[in-house]
Amino acid sequence: MNVTQPWNVVFLLGFIVFFVIRFGYARAAKHESRSISRFGWLEKFLLALMFPPTVLLPLLYLFTPLLAFADYEITSVVHWIGATLMVIALWLFWRSHADLGMNWSVSLELRDGHELVTHGVYRFIRHPMYAAIWLWSVGQGMLLANWLAGWSVVPVFAAMYWLRTPREEDLMCQMFGDQYRTYMRTTGRIVPRFGIVGKRRADEFSEYGCQQLTAAESVQTSSEDVRPFE
Ligand code: SAH
Repeated sequence: MNVTQPWNVVFLLGFIVFFVIRFGYARAAKHESRSISRFGWLEKFLLALMFPPTVLLPLLYLFTPLLAFADYEITSVVHWIGATLMVIALWLFWRSHADLGMNWSVSLELRDGHELVTHGVYRFIRHPMYAAIWLWSVGQGMLLANWLAGWSVVPVFAAMYWLRTPREEDLMCQMFGDQYRTYMRTTGRIVPRFGIVGKRRADEFSEYGCQQLTAAESVQTSSEDVRPFE
């Protein structure tokens, strides 16, 4: 069984930690009542689509020979990079859950008394949890020596990320208005905005979900108004 190989043990440990973090915080937030929900069919479909590449295929690869046809060799340098990405992903996943607290939900929802979180890891990027899942996905690909179990998560999460993030930012804009638009000016989606790169990204805001932020506003804020560490 593949699970006895050292790098697969590393993956399995990370996998367990990932779900312990997720279910620990999910349980805490379970009883929060939701005032606005956009948990429509698309949301449900995307979430369901995440199950095979994040859970089913890795477990089949680790515990059965069913996916052996897609096995390949991975050098130890790649394994080490994958393990490093996984550790960073787990840290970021934990911190984003801790910072979001009761404002977390598995879908697009706002609870009664929802607060806009802009501290902790949210101070630098608007979607640290999605950033963590990106890192995790690439880490999974680099750790599991199987094309299917390793890499299928990347296209599926990419679809989920690109469909969901603008809708989520739209929802946050509707709820928090200028407070969220101001927050957008000082943060990147999943990459912190620093120096020249940060300023250039500010011009792209009008393409994002927060449609009310006009290109003129973005240009205006792309100069001295960018204060990522405030
Ligand atoms: N996209 C964020 C949060 C994912 S959890 C991240 O990647 O870290 C999804 C829920 O978090 C959404 O339904 C939304 O209500 C809530 N949310 C997203 N950003 C938030 C923020 N800055 N403050 C409070 N709630 C937020």
